[in-house]
Amino acid sequence: MTSNLHVVDHPLVQHKLTLMRDRTTASADFRRLLREISALMGYEVTRDLPTTLTDIETPLAPMKSPVIAGLKPVVVSILRAGGGILDGVLDVLPSARVGHIGLYRDPETLEAVEYYFKMPDRIAERVVVLVDPMLATGHSAVAAVDRVKALGPRDVRFVCLLAAPEGIATLHAAHPDVPIWTAAVDSHLNDHGYIVPGLGDAGDRIFGTK
Ligand code: URA
Repeated sequence: MTSNLHVVDHPLVQHKLTLMRDRTTASADFRRLLREISALMGYEVTRDLPTTLTDIETPLAPMKSPVIAGLKPVVVSILRAGGGILDGVLDVLPSARVGHIGLYRDPETLEAVEYYFKMPDRIAERVVVLVDPMLATGHSAVAAVDRVKALGPRDVRFVCLLAAPEGIATLHAAHPDVPIWTAAVDSHLNDHGYIVPGLGDAGDRIFGTK
């Protein structure tokens, strides 16, 4: 594991993750928990954003007070499961811009195939936070980072809920400069590209499609 990997081991995150992994947890609870964890992950991934001082007046006195410097960050959701993380990150970063990348995993090759790409303007002046609950093979993550980096962002960060060692290695091999924030690193991928022990298909569990 590299120093570019941040495992958020906060007890609240770990407790909520355990509930999400449990197969008996219903979709409504799974969605709520994902949103809650994602807000905590959003807090961690923005910890080092640069700030600048601005002049304000409190009811008592003028003062210089910190605000986040530069253009608003962009949260980029990798469809469709990224939407679950997006909502929670926006809870703590409500003025962020939002981008979407539609990727599906070819069931034969497990490679990422793009079907949608929409970004806000001036990406070159923004920090990009890519979000997807599961970093499994890493193919989607690499494809998403490739596409975003082509627009020349200030820096790119990746937030997931669970990561497989294979996915971390693949993403870091292709993009060693992209730090990863995850709530846990699991054992391995199975033959179908699912994270073990994992939590199953994140999209299906968020949307109740299975
Ligand atoms: N995508 C999921 O939803 N779950 C996994 O375990 C791997 C990829």
